[in-house]
Amino acid sequence: MVSPSAPTATDYTLTTNRDGSIVRWNPCAPIHYAVNAALAADPAGALADTQAAIAKVAAASGLTFAYDGSTTVVPTRAWLDGGGSASSTLVIAWAAPGSQAGDSDLFGADADGEGGWTESGVSKDGQTWTWQIKRGFVVVDPAGAAGYAPGFGAGQSRGVLLMHELGHAVGLGHVDNQRDVMFPVITSSSRAQWGPGDLAGLTRVGKTAGCIS
Ligand SMILES: [Zn+2]
Repeated sequence: MVSPSAPTATDYTLTTNRDGSIVRWNPCAPIHYAVNAALAADPAGALADTQAAIAKVAAASGLTFAYDGSTTVVPTRAWLDGGGSASSTLVIAWAAPGSQAGDSDLFGADADGEGGWTESGVSKDGQTWTWQIKRGFVVVDPAGAAGYAPGFGAGQSRGVLLMHELGHAVGLGHVDNQRDVMFPVITSSSRAQWGPGDLAGLTRVGKTAGCIS
């Protein structure tokens, strides 16, 4: 029998650039986000859970978010690479995995949701570069999400799924500790509360990391 190890504040993973800087949003400007919940079983509930999950990211990281309203954008690799509309730089959408029109090709294998980002760099001298996330996404598979309870209760909730994927969208990777939301699998023992590792990681990509200018 294996018991989950005690949570520690170092249970987080980040992505770093070649110069050692951490991949993150600029915390000194609001992240404009829009939601495409048309394909959710309950669009109003899905939107409410998304906004609550955004608020949990904001509270833990100090990042600020501005809600731009609903959108018809479905994040795809092409969108992430700069195509189509980006009036909102973070889009959360319910969409089927696939490559047909209206699908998203951003899902990993067997994933009920996926979250991520793309960054771009600027350089004044071609030597040193300043990097920041320019677009982020969360996609939720409506069929896969059917097994998740609405809200933020214990176990497989839509809330913890959204928190996990939004964690990816602000730069967090997976961790080994089951007490953290960034554990790769959402199970009956998941909790829709940030664990110590999540909180430490969100601090590293948040307001206290300083402005990117
Ligand atoms: Zn994940």
